[in-house]
Amino acid sequence: MSDEIMNDNDEYEKVCYICRRTESKTGKMIMMPGDMSICVDCMQKSFDTLNDGTIDYDSLMKFSNMPGVNFMSMSDLEENLKKDIPKKQKIKKKTKSDKPAIDIKSIPAPHVIKAKLDDYIIGQDHAKKVISVAVYNHYKRVATDTMDEIEIEKSNMLMLGPTGSGKTYLVKTLAKLLDVPLAITDATSLTEAGYIGDDIESVVSKLLAAADNDVEKAEHGIIFIDEIDKLAKKKNTHSRDVSGESVQQGMLKLLEGSDVEVPVGSNSKNAMVPLVTVNTRNILFICGGAFPDLEDIIKQRLNKQSSIGFIADLKDKYDNDDTILEKVTLEDLKIFGMIPEFLGRLPIIYTLSPLSEEMLVKILKEPKNAILKQYQKLLRLDEVDLVFDDSALEAIAKKAMEKKTGARALRSIIEEFMLDIMFEIPKDDNIGRVTITGDYINKVGGPIIDMRGVVKLEAKE
Ligand code: ADP
Repeated sequence: MSDEIMNDNDEYEKVCYICRRTESKTGKMIMMPGDMSICVDCMQKSFDTLNDGTIDYDSLMKFSNMPGVNFMSMSDLEENLKKDIPKKQKIKKKTKSDKPAIDIKSIPAPHVIKAKLDDYIIGQDHAKKVISVAVYNHYKRVATDTMDEIEIEKSNMLMLGPTGSGKTYLVKTLAKLLDVPLAITDATSLTEAGYIGDDIESVVSKLLAAADNDVEKAEHGIIFIDEIDKLAKKKNTHSRDVSGESVQQGMLKLLEGSDVEVPVGSNSKNAMVPLVTVNTRNILFICGGAFPDLEDIIKQRLNKQSSIGFIADLKDKYDNDDTILEKVTLEDLKIFGMIPEFLGRLPIIYTLSPLSEEMLVKILKEPKNAILKQYQKLLRLDEVDLVFDDSALEAIAKKAMEKKTGARALRSIIEEFMLDIMFEIPKDDNIGRVTITGDYINKVGGPIIDMRGVVKLEAKE
């Protein structure tokens, strides 16, 4: 960044009038009459065009081969000139308030990272602890570039847990706190290159897009591959497995760290799209899956072990064990169908527990952006107090448990009964408070409505 920009305390930075990039990206701008700024690249291209003998703006646009350059169309340019917009355009420089909650360049200790995660994620203490330590080690390795004699292993992770237990949410929250780009992909959409579906490298191009085509930013990002259990080796098949085992094979290099050529601003490679090289060495890969049949494999192993000892356990000892997934070993995952080389590149394996009714109640009201808080905020704009009594919270959690989709069911249940509330309440200005009860959730009663005057009277008493 040039000195001039550094000294410029103005909170806005200059934008090139032609390619729209900011001064921090283009380098110093050339000022034109009328306070118009043009970057050196565009100026050079303009001269080149003039030397060609053509002063055609459209041909100038065709010279665009720089990533991130977004030329205006001729009609847009004319429109802008007509409007006489201020030439020093308003693209905000990063201010202090834009600072990430956790700075990856001086990454705080794992307990600090976990404390931040605690604000958003209920329970899952073990998972939060593991992920905090892994992220700490990963970004410490990245920041110090410790790749000398003692090479620190990459902290790629494999996250097991039932659906709706917060796998995606945990990763999303982490990426937000760290302010690093995140790409979320579904493993089921991936196929070996050359077959119908997204090829494996498309996950890196998604990340590049999430990083606004900034390669350096993307190289510090996180890639979350969900439903990884769907890549398990198919049993008893003689045809080529293009979406399972081959994808696991294809991902090995990516997980380990390699240079990948990805198209800029597009998902598919073709002659028209410029390519950039992204190195995946410092990209953190997190794979997640519910691994539905894995429990049986673990149970079988445990039952076999216990029947060998002196005191043979009952055969159904583990049948009602909710924590069975936590007892997973690499061997179990291999039997499930994950190939050893793939597992070898995901050294950190941990499990999220299924959510209990109690945890669901907490998820409703405790996280920083809890669903109930969101609705309460909405109604407060109409100066109405929204109260959920304990019986309501329990009833919602019970209904969600029945759906067996973890916390994911909560929102749909709440949305269903809140629709009427959100529709009816604004009709009457006198309503001061709405109390949602268990009876209302169970459809055997209505919400308790307090009028404004009454609420005030009660408050006085
Ligand atoms: P999955 O494990 O299937 O990836 P998600 O992470 O998508 O589940 O969870 C669905 C939603 O449930 C999230 O968006 C989040 O709002 C909520 N949720 C799930 N688990 C938790 C948790 N432990 N704490 C807070 N919210 C959670």
